[in-house]
Amino acid sequence: MTLLVKVVKIHLISEQFDKAGNRIDYKEVNKILWELQKQTREAKNKTVQLLWEWNNFSSDYVKASGIYPKAKDIFGYSSVHGQANKELRTKLILNSSNLSTTTMDVCKIFNTYKKEVWEGKRSVPSYKSDQPLDLHKDSIKLIYENNQFYVRLALLKKAEFAKYGFKDGFRFKMQVKDNSTKTILERCFDEVYKINASKLLYDQKKKMWKLNLSYSFDNKNISELDKEKILGVDVGVNCPLVASVFGDRDRFIIKGGEIEKFRKSVEARRRSMLEQTKYCGDGRIGHGRKKRTEPALNIGDKIARFRDTTNHKYSRALIEYAVKKGCGTIQMEKLTGITSKSDRFLKDWTYYDLQTKIENKAKEVGINVVYIAPKYTSQRCSNCGYIHKDNRPNQAKFRCLKCDFESNADYNASQNIGIKNIAKIIEKDLKKQKSEVQVNENK
Ligand SMILES: [Zn+2]
Repeated sequence: MTLLVKVVKIHLISEQFDKAGNRIDYKEVNKILWELQKQTREAKNKTVQLLWEWNNFSSDYVKASGIYPKAKDIFGYSSVHGQANKELRTKLILNSSNLSTTTMDVCKIFNTYKKEVWEGKRSVPSYKSDQPLDLHKDSIKLIYENNQFYVRLALLKKAEFAKYGFKDGFRFKMQVKDNSTKTILERCFDEVYKINASKLLYDQKKKMWKLNLSYSFDNKNISELDKEKILGVDVGVNCPLVASVFGDRDRFIIKGGEIEKFRKSVEARRRSMLEQTKYCGDGRIGHGRKKRTEPALNIGDKIARFRDTTNHKYSRALIEYAVKKGCGTIQMEKLTGITSKSDRFLKDWTYYDLQTKIENKAKEVGINVVYIAPKYTSQRCSNCGYIHKDNRPNQAKFRCLKCDFESNADYNASQNIGIKNIAKIIEKDLKKQKSEVQVNENK
């Protein structure tokens, strides 16, 4: 197991709004950010000064007394880092976590070169004006909206932030230029990768701010997954997701209904809005009708966005379950193509979208996805293999006519779906049943 730490560089476009929803000019935002650069420089130089003074003090102290002084006795903090933070925190408008990241960084660098500085081989570090802004990992929040990544950065102390009247923090649109960057951001967003302390820099050439986003991941879980252990996933009508390992009573269920509920509430509003626009007429208010219809049409976007976010959440939870169970393979029914079930799915491509997201996230953690033919998996008894449509007295329930095995219908389907080479097994089951029927008829 190795922890890999990497950095991806992304240019940012300022997207600040005030409380009334008006866009704040990027020049105003730049002014604040440049001030923060100055303060970062000040913090760094002040920390170096403290470190240097402490170093000299310690040296004198040892010479005089034979023992090293304890920072705790002098500062009340166990290190210079604590003292630097205390002195700077009240003075500067920098977010405290970011400030602490900056001062910690300076302490680390100083300690690395302390000996060389002491011996006169290197000068005391001094920081110039265009310092990158340090970002504590908790100061970075990725946002995914409408197929676009944004980032919200906590840059100021809360009390300072309130003064500027921003609505939603320092929010930037991320300029994602290639697929590999997009994939990295998706994995950070899905928490497959962890975001670390990062840096915000000003790119003089492009006159833009640039985020050097640091992320890390390890491959511990991935190597422990057993390719022969299969998680059967039923993407269904009653529940959006039911998954289980064959022979395991434990199951993963997402009851869902969120998307449908959201869609209904939004569509009810849409209908009432369209009702109102009808009465506006066409000729009387010029282009009135077209204009008035617009907000109603945007509702479609809203539903799509909600569905997107919800499916991300569902698929992430499913993959977590697969990893927890040690499954190296996921089996699902192929939902495209002409099958007995296709119409019910294609009515609403939500399921197709969900399946695509599961597939993508599975690949990220090294889980194989195997698609199987969606025939008879809901009619087959996972206990004895008997296939009959009457095994399902209703949508939700499964009861085997032959062995009396009873269970939740989706769970039973997921059990079948999780069997290796299930398509061939079903073929055999059907042949066997056919011959049994013939034998019975010949009697
Ligand atoms: Zn049975």
